[in-house]
Amino acid sequence: MMNLVIFGAPGCGKGTQSERLIERFGLHHISTGELLRDHIARGTELGKIADGYISKGHLIPDDLMIRVLAHELEEKQDKTANGVIFDGFPRTIPQAIALEKLLDEHNAGIHAVVGLEVDEDELVKRMIQRGLESGRADDNIDTIKERLNVYHQRTAPLRDYYKKQGKYVPIDGNGSVEDIFKTIEDALNKQS
Ligand code: AMP
Repeated sequence: MMNLVIFGAPGCGKGTQSERLIERFGLHHISTGELLRDHIARGTELGKIADGYISKGHLIPDDLMIRVLAHELEEKQDKTANGVIFDGFPRTIPQAIALEKLLDEHNAGIHAVVGLEVDEDELVKRMIQRGLESGRADDNIDTIKERLNVYHQRTAPLRDYYKKQGKYVPIDGNGSVEDIFKTIEDALNKQS
């Protein structure tokens, strides 16, 4: 079993590299952003609440987000035997602590945190391009700026948090999807 966290600023390529990692290692993908967008599309109560935060580029409050993740893990228990790739969670220290607790209940833990490190100009360029291609509502310049602020304030401290645990695997996330994936694969092989 290998539980991975894919980590980095918005637009760093978490979703793209997750797809490759799923194929390679047979992992179950949990993207909290996708989960929330699905709720918004279906017009659920959670979707209505989440939309208010996402459209402003803010984070969903920790207590709610942790409950959503716990529910998802519970519901998908039969699919997570090989491990999970957590994409977009944790985004705060309290979320990281909650994830550890949840995994610990199943005698599991986090194997590695793959940190995709991408230059800020490139992040903005990628998100604007994604907004044009996918129509993702929060990929507009004002929301992008706010998401980057929120990332630096609330999420970036997780780098040191996981470095101290010896779990942080830094990856240069500039370059082609193929080359970045190869770097991740090599780094994970060394880590195990
Ligand atoms: P993402 O698809 O991971 O970029 O997430 C899109 C948006 O969903 C974020 O900008 C947040 O508003 C919200 N979101 C996703 N995951 C989380 C999380 N773990 N904690 C709080 N908000 C989240």
